[in-house]
Amino acid sequence: MPDATDPTDSPEFDSELHRTALAQLDRVAARLSLDHDIHERLRFPRRALVVSVPVRMDSGKTQVFIGYRVHHNTALGPTKGGLRYDLGVNLGEVTALAMLMSWKCALVGLPYGGAKGGVRCNPRAMSARELEHLTRRYTTEIILMIGPDIDIPAPDLGTDEQTMAWMMDTYSMTQGKSVPGVVTGKPLIVGGSAGRREATGRGIVFVLYQAAKSLGQELRGKKIVVQGFGNVGGTAARLLWNDGCTIAGISDFKGGVWNPKGLDVRQLQTYVAEAGSVAGFPGGEAIGNDQILEQPCDVLIPAAVDSVINERNADRIKALIVAEGANGPTTPEADVILRDRGVTVIPDILCNAGGVVVSYFEWVQGLQHYFWKESEIISRLQEIMARSFTRVWQTAQKGGVDLRTGALMEGVSRVADAHVSRGLYP
Ligand code: NAD
Repeated sequence: MPDATDPTDSPEFDSELHRTALAQLDRVAARLSLDHDIHERLRFPRRALVVSVPVRMDSGKTQVFIGYRVHHNTALGPTKGGLRYDLGVNLGEVTALAMLMSWKCALVGLPYGGAKGGVRCNPRAMSARELEHLTRRYTTEIILMIGPDIDIPAPDLGTDEQTMAWMMDTYSMTQGKSVPGVVTGKPLIVGGSAGRREATGRGIVFVLYQAAKSLGQELRGKKIVVQGFGNVGGTAARLLWNDGCTIAGISDFKGGVWNPKGLDVRQLQTYVAEAGSVAGFPGGEAIGNDQILEQPCDVLIPAAVDSVINERNADRIKALIVAEGANGPTTPEADVILRDRGVTVIPDILCNAGGVVVSYFEWVQGLQHYFWKESEIISRLQEIMARSFTRVWQTAQKGGVDLRTGALMEGVSRVADAHVSRGLYP
């Protein structure tokens, strides 16, 4: 008889990513000998809202989209987490992503709990007007859940600075004043931070340098493959290319391009700006989205969607380092296979934390009405990423565990400590 209070048995959360997130938590809870009651609380989101979002489409017809906002944990402070527009969005996925945000914020030392939001839609098939109406209505529907000291959304898969500007404007209209602190990842002109757009990709590059150094290797000249050429993958590819790495393969939702001698990332960006995808780029040969993950390379950066490295393909991954730009790209089964094969996996909650770190800088700058130079942002980001990497590396070495376990041990134990310190209300 399944335990009715077990989130793994709750059909509303059913999703591969949620199973992954719970399996990770359970494994680390056992290793930390976490108090049973605290462990139980951490398995569930604090609150979750499901909303319907009706939008008058350009055709004149009204279409209803389903949206979510989930606060996983508030022990460390107000919650923080992205907003995702994707056809794969469901309550389980958003809940899992909120849980990962709790560990991520705690790991890098930010005063935030984890949250996430999403709307099930295909943003590539919608006009700018439809997306604006979707965003404004969704913001209104979740308005009780957000605020500068409650929960602060940011961009994620399928959303960008423009989405954040619409959210901020909608929220501000309901308050009768401008409230820039309600979101991060905004355009500079309305209170965004220098360096936020590149922050996640730049953070990946910082931890890659640290990982290469710790493994006694040189990053320069290494062969890199990137899945996803959006904010995260596009920035990481460009920065690594600038630093003298060979970007041998890149793919996006439509397909990929492969050139073992190296792609010209600047030309590829120009091509994508016109063609809307890397598929068909003349600087390399066409390659499938699954195939690209299995190409020979030194570093693989999955920077698109979850569960792409799984038990079906993990034994064919040839990279020596997997740097998780995406959230949850590796399933627990694949983790074991990669670990046994000696592949170093830099886990999502560490590898892609640069985005939330600079979001935190944006929030702090906005609250103080005082903005920092880009060079200050970059050096503070580097300091936090380096410190976090070192802590995870040392914990992993000391415990004889992989980097994911080390990172989760750091993140989960901080959230648990905050719970112990605050006690259980009432
Ligand atoms: P984005 O929308 O800017 O770009 C996503 C890219 O992935 C696009 O190139 C898209 O074509 C491609 N893509 C979409 N579906 C795909 C599929 N099924 N197969 C292959 N490629 C596909 O999104 P982003 O902000 O770059 O986010 C990418 C990943 O990074 C997500 O998992 C997100 O949660 C994670 N992430 C983002 C941030 C951030 O600051 N934006 C921070 C941390 C983690």
